[in-house]
Amino acid sequence: MKTTNFVRHLQARSVARVALVESSPPTHAPELPTASVAALTDAAGQVTSTSKPSANALNLDVARKQVEAQESQVCGHDELDLTFNDSRKAYKSKTMRQLLRNYFVLGLCSNEFLVKNNGLVMKLTRSIVGKRGFEQIMRSTFYGQFVAGADEQEIVPVIKHLSSFGVKTILDYSAEEDVKEEEVREDARADVEKNQSELNYLANVDGSSPLRRYQQSTDFADRRKYLPVARTYFYHGESQCERNLEIFFKAIEAVAKTTGNTGFAAIKLTALGRPRLLMKLSKIIDYMRQIEGHSRAESLTDLLRRFNSLSKAHINPLDEDEEEMLFNLMRRVNRIAAYASQVGGARCMIDAEQTYMQPAINMIAMELMRQYNRREAIIFNTYQCYLKGAQEQVKQDLAQARKENFFFGAKLVRGAYMEQERARAAKLGYEDPINESFEATTKMYEQTLSYLMGEIERELKLDGDQDGQNNRRISIMVATHNEDAVRFALEQMERRGIKPGHKVICFGQLYGMCDHVSFMLGQAGYSVYKYTPYGPIEEVLPYLGRRAIENHGFLSKLQRERALLAEEIRNRLITMRWFYKPVGNYRPV
Ligand SMILES: Cc1cc2nc3c(=O)[nH]c(=O)nc-3n(C[C@H](O)[C@H](O)[C@H](O)COP(=O)(O)OP(=O)(O)OC[C@H]3O[C@@H](n4cnc5c(N)ncnc54)[C@H](O)[C@@H]3O)c2cc1C
Repeated sequence: MKTTNFVRHLQARSVARVALVESSPPTHAPELPTASVAALTDAAGQVTSTSKPSANALNLDVARKQVEAQESQVCGHDELDLTFNDSRKAYKSKTMRQLLRNYFVLGLCSNEFLVKNNGLVMKLTRSIVGKRGFEQIMRSTFYGQFVAGADEQEIVPVIKHLSSFGVKTILDYSAEEDVKEEEVREDARADVEKNQSELNYLANVDGSSPLRRYQQSTDFADRRKYLPVARTYFYHGESQCERNLEIFFKAIEAVAKTTGNTGFAAIKLTALGRPRLLMKLSKIIDYMRQIEGHSRAESLTDLLRRFNSLSKAHINPLDEDEEEMLFNLMRRVNRIAAYASQVGGARCMIDAEQTYMQPAINMIAMELMRQYNRREAIIFNTYQCYLKGAQEQVKQDLAQARKENFFFGAKLVRGAYMEQERARAAKLGYEDPINESFEATTKMYEQTLSYLMGEIERELKLDGDQDGQNNRRISIMVATHNEDAVRFALEQMERRGIKPGHKVICFGQLYGMCDHVSFMLGQAGYSVYKYTPYGPIEEVLPYLGRRAIENHGFLSKLQRERALLAEEIRNRLITMRWFYKPVGNYRPV
């Protein structure tokens, strides 16, 4: 298909899609009251000290009944303890068995040998105890802790349970195929040979130019290397992308059916199109930015049209196959977004990936926002604050959203590919795109969040007495397990008068991690999501390996969670609540 055809196709489709979105009604969940964070913090101290049953209580049975009565009463919202130290509140959604499992699994994650050799250990266990035995062991340990279930049916009770404790869901189908590294390298090698003259050009541009990051290297063809803590999709042809599309449809359907208009489906663009195509598009985007001298906010279609009209470019244009792939990719992402907006109650979160694909991912996410975020934020883009350019990118994208009058949805993360990004930059001789230290990343996270909160505050003020009904055009997810970052966000909300009921700020943590923060936020009436993986046991093993690695990487966090779990296990033993059955009556914001 010629580029001009491709551009025409995309334009015609966008017009049709805008019309479709404009006719679909927006969905709004009911608002819930909230108290000020400062007041909550003061009160939290009292509640913590008075409402816990004393270990010395003579009548333990009375103590047990008191606690159970408190926990099963029809809830308003709990007071929020900003120290996140109240183990009883933190784990009131858990049975004793779940607490013990959590404690045990985190214990395994602190064992360096097990974590480093997790693949081998799992294979060995499987060969000793057989498939059935292995599944049982996994269900009572890692799988049970980090994965919600095998399919859309099995996860329903989990989603309902989370929701009854005020916690919402981002669904992520986490099955992964076991691809051999050599296969991936071989595939990349052919491509490197084909593009040798372009590679020579890229290897000679200045080290500070982003273009150098588009050199292909067989050493980094396997994107699972160097400890990424996020999932990697490999390309197995367009038909595999179609199958992935069906999986995303199912996830969106499950979100719409089970989350009561509040959930998200996580979307990775590398599952819907060839990663090498995303890299090539990113290269063209950065090339155009370099020769035009500034970064223009615009659509991919316009940019490709200008690139194709250049009389001489140092980098190769898309060939016919790639144009076809791009057309397919855009068709798939548009179908996903259109489906989410049609079924109502489901939104999509586009994940951020490696820097050499991010310009294309970002631009496609913006295109989707432009088309589908006309009445509310259905599409969220992700910004990685470990990148030196994170805040600048957010500012630029928000300006574009304002100029073109669409809702801006942003998930803020620190970033999952640090080791790999650094190793690649060092090997290929370009400037490290990652902030120089953890503190610098934290500063970037806080500055970006603070900037967005400031913009939200301005919008809410514009509404005056209407309580922000008309001007809520920015929505943010604070996606982090870092308690300081969560506290920073809560303080900003308090200082700027942004309430959970405005429904513009939410929090996000991974399922099975950092539960004390998620549940305390949800139970206190804040909007909070669990990024919830699901998939058959055998196919989510790589995901489980990454969770073990990620937990092991932050031993202080791991120790803190284990200490809280130990405290709650002790409390339940003392107060004889061994068979406590959690029943939640919270309503997520
Ligand atoms: C709901 C949710 C969705 C997510 N989606 C994505 C996504 O789409 N894309 C993505 O890339 N990641 C995603 N992540 C993962 C995220 O980027 C982080 O890797 C993970 O959350 C750990 O960061 P933290 O703030 O939770 O914890 P922390 O322990 O406070 O931070 C660890 C992070 O800090 C950064 N860091 C650590 N050391 C240094 C250093 N020396 N210099 C500079 N930076 C450093 C790294 O990013 C590291 O991962 C998601 C996480 C969550 C909870």
